[in-house]
Amino acid sequence: MTIDLEHERASRLAPGNRPELQLSFEFFPPKTDAMEERFWDSLHRLAPLHPSFVSVTYGAGGSTRERTLRMVRQIKSETGIDAAAHLTCVGASREEVDAVVRGYQQAGIKRIVALRGDPPEGIGQPFVPHPQGYQNAAELVAGIRAIGDFDISVAAYPDKHAQSPTWDAEIDNLKRKLDAGANRAITQMFFDNRDYLRLVERARKAGITAPIVPGIQPIHSFTQIAGFAARNGASMPAWVAERFAGLENDPETHALVAAAVAAEQVLELVDEGVTQLHFFTLNRSNLVLALARMLGRRPD
Ligand code: FAD
Repeated sequence: MTIDLEHERASRLAPGNRPELQLSFEFFPPKTDAMEERFWDSLHRLAPLHPSFVSVTYGAGGSTRERTLRMVRQIKSETGIDAAAHLTCVGASREEVDAVVRGYQQAGIKRIVALRGDPPEGIGQPFVPHPQGYQNAAELVAGIRAIGDFDISVAAYPDKHAQSPTWDAEIDNLKRKLDAGANRAITQMFFDNRDYLRLVERARKAGITAPIVPGIQPIHSFTQIAGFAARNGASMPAWVAERFAGLENDPETHALVAAAVAAEQVLELVDEGVTQLHFFTLNRSNLVLALARMLGRRPD
């Protein structure tokens, strides 16, 4: 990177001159009482950062349907923060999916992250839609729109989705989802900002104007996140791996490197003009609190 001697970086501007950032936080529904305690502890620590919304994922094949609904309802009632429920159409008929959407509607949930989902065997396996089901996320978005006035987010992929044969197919699909009525896209995790910036450039060239919000995955555990990245078709650059190499038994240095790597990523994105960021928290708060502070956002 060359240093611009004329202009201050956006991330370093004084509070009044800095672009206003919108942050959102993704959680997963906890399975056990101990996990539920950590979920609420993290949520209560992150809530004073005033996220635009908090989202709760939907387990593979709808396995967390009840828990996702319970968590989003409770987030809304306990913290007042807008909560978004993720929803997939894998392994379910349209009728079943529509019933879940109506359930959200009745519970006062106005935001949905609409996804196709993956077969239980994982992203690498061919997706076979339910015979009476939505075929893909674009159809799901249209189905949700037909039911009510939801704020809908969809997925985008800086590394290209494994099942898109070309970048043109990838961008066409993203456009179909937004044209069907989605309000924004949130990206899969990525670690090289150039992949995200290229995706945005391709989308803008195709006439997509909706926000494409970068999904930020802090590396709490390199081994775990490298595994997630591989399973989700996200590339892990060699230079990131090198930074964490040999830190398996040195949690303190690992945590410091994780904060530094993620801080470098988000500050660079803000300098590139990004104003909305979505954090995959994995139900933890420490790194996200530190990153928010680096971005000029403090808890009340
Ligand atoms: P789609 O947009 O439908 O696309 C899937 C693939 O099919 C693409 O390659 C696309 O090009 C292709 N395709 C779509 N339509 C057509 C067509 N008509 N003809 C030819 N090809 C087509 N998964 C969960 O199970 N639960 C979650 O809570 C969850 N949350 C997520 C949150 C984010 C921010 C992201 C980025 C992903 C999330 N996922 C989640 C993962 C997601 O379900 C998978 O990545 C899945 O493989 C694709 O979902 P999609 O909505 O992008 O699918």
